[in-house]
Amino acid sequence: METIIVGVIGLLIGSFLTAAGLRLPAKQSIVYPPSACPFCSARLRPWNLVPVFSYVWQFGRCTRCRERISPIYPAGELAFAVLAVASYYIFGWSMELAAALLFSAMLVMITVSDLRYMVIPDRILLVFSVPIALVRLTVAPLDPWWDAAAGSAGGFLLLFAAAVVSRGGLGGGDVKLYAVVGLMLGFSGMLLSLAAASILGLCAGLAGVFMNKWGRKTEIPFGPFIAAGALLVYFAGA
Ligand SMILES: [Zn+2]
Repeated sequence: METIIVGVIGLLIGSFLTAAGLRLPAKQSIVYPPSACPFCSARLRPWNLVPVFSYVWQFGRCTRCRERISPIYPAGELAFAVLAVASYYIFGWSMELAAALLFSAMLVMITVSDLRYMVIPDRILLVFSVPIALVRLTVAPLDPWWDAAAGSAGGFLLLFAAAVVSRGGLGGGDVKLYAVVGLMLGFSGMLLSLAAASILGLCAGLAGVFMNKWGRKTEIPFGPFIAAGALLVYFAGA
């Protein structure tokens, strides 16, 4: 029963995070205008706003103009719901649960934004890094407590060096994001998650080349792989 409640709340929050992740980089307000179809501007009715389910029973299309709705919406909603349920299962009612939810929320928003716009907005990083840092350094510390600071500084410097070497292959958003990932995971977790993200990114890149979908020059956002690697290491190590 509790799992269902956490899952439903997760879907609702995930819906908000996904919409906000798609609106913020486009300099749109999070609250206004109300959700509408991007093609025919049909205002979404309350029953069109039910996370995931409305997407499924509308077969992924707008009920008025039949244009395809981006699968990013149900994917983001579902992703956060799954992460919320997993966090609740693993950590129960603890301070680490707060850290896990903040971290998951930030990574869902960043993935959505990076997939759509190839950008990791500073505002998202700022909004989440402050409370994550507070929780990590006070009520839910790593052992030893300075591991968070070491991971954060290490992650920033490592990605900064990689960005310089790759000459723009990695963006400033990736570098700043890694300071937060290091804060959350500590130094060794940060290194491990970077390895995981690189392997995932490489696999996706190779798969893309083989399927001929991406040319060699096509830019692939690295944020989603950072998010996947970081969550993998975080939950596997919990
Ligand atoms: Zn429409």
